[in-house]
Amino acid sequence: MAKISKNEYIDLIKKGKSYMTLPVHDEKLQKQLEESGSNLMTFLNQPLEDIRKWQLKRLSYLVDYAFDNIPLYRKKYSEVGYVKGSIKTWDDFFKLPYLYKEELIEGFPNEIVKDVNDFVLSTRSSGSSGEFVTIAVSEEAIYKDTLQTIRQFNMQSGGRYCAEDTILYIYTCPWWVNNVGGKYKQDYLPTTTKVEETVKYIMETKPRYISTYPTYLEKIASTGVKLSNYGVELVIVHSEQSNAKQRNMLAELLDVNVLDEYSSEELTRIALECPKHHYHLEEDACFIEIVDKNGKKLPNGEIGIVVGTNLLNTATPIIRYIQGDLVKITTHEKCTCGDNGRIIEGVKGRNMDSIITDTGESIPASCFMDIAYNWFLVYNIPVHGLKYQFVQTKIGKLDLYIIEGKYTLDIPTIKESIYTLVPRTTEVVVHKVNKLPYDQGTKYRSVIRLG
Ligand SMILES: [Zn+2]
Repeated sequence: MAKISKNEYIDLIKKGKSYMTLPVHDEKLQKQLEESGSNLMTFLNQPLEDIRKWQLKRLSYLVDYAFDNIPLYRKKYSEVGYVKGSIKTWDDFFKLPYLYKEELIEGFPNEIVKDVNDFVLSTRSSGSSGEFVTIAVSEEAIYKDTLQTIRQFNMQSGGRYCAEDTILYIYTCPWWVNNVGGKYKQDYLPTTTKVEETVKYIMETKPRYISTYPTYLEKIASTGVKLSNYGVELVIVHSEQSNAKQRNMLAELLDVNVLDEYSSEELTRIALECPKHHYHLEEDACFIEIVDKNGKKLPNGEIGIVVGTNLLNTATPIIRYIQGDLVKITTHEKCTCGDNGRIIEGVKGRNMDSIITDTGESIPASCFMDIAYNWFLVYNIPVHGLKYQFVQTKIGKLDLYIIEGKYTLDIPTIKESIYTLVPRTTEVVVHKVNKLPYDQGTKYRSVIRLG
């Protein structure tokens, strides 16, 4: 049983949210941008050898920090005879054991942080396994991540993004801060917003950039709106699977550029699609390795499982974490966009379906993912360790399968939350189960339509 009560946990998160609204963060962020901005902005344009040198130094620091401060790593690394200060070469690092999601779930709360109050700043991920994990995030990681957003949009817009621009996020919950020194503003709409309202909002506010899920963007496209008429130039999609063909089609329909972001809550930005359509690894956000199903490291050019180390966060360090997606690192390392980091291919996110109501309306998968997040955010249901799957077998019926996590679930509230999305005429059945009906490892999908 968790050693942090439901209420203590919820209070901590609330405290963290209001803490991050203090003006001091804005000042500190602006200062960081002034001091380290140019290094950060050009980091990926350095020769790859320099990037690798920096990474090894950072990894060595992170491993020692985790070994010294985080019980999970203390135990894990002691078992393989790790001695502080021994990451001097890449081979030293590659000897460390992998980290599995189950360990993060089991280790919550005390084993995965230095101090349980570190959960004041935290994030929840359901990742590609659909199972929720809560990790603590350090303030420095939030700052660096915020500044890397500036670099992301600068890179993906081909250098057009500037301080006066606004990015509209149509997403699960807003980012911790919504500007840097009054500039680089971020606006936010939840994906549970009706698409007509979203389109109206875009027409009124004219954001130059939008970041959202591909299934939500499809909904926007289905209204027939041409986003270019309202000042939008680029849409970044993420979190769900989308392929180049689908993005090209959306780009044509909406008359804007559509590029992909490959990211996860545990690892932050993994790779970004540049205007030349290469996926460049964000080499200073996380360090990526590719391994086969037995954990053997694969050379460049071979497709395998993504293993990542978060280079930003120290509150819950994520070191050699099995992310689970399948990709390959190509041997091609140079791109005319100027990025010298490694390039990956075959990025596949979560494959999900839309759900069809009995009135014929299609509801994007992202809305159901967001409802699951809202069990925590809106309905105060701690979701740590919880696993879910929405399945539609016929129009008018929706089954939700849930494996309970660390905390007891409030099923009526969960059921009620689903009715904020689907009409009351839909028969919603919530099943508490020990195993999800359609779960085949990396093929897991959180929203499935079978009929
Ligand atoms: Zn490029």
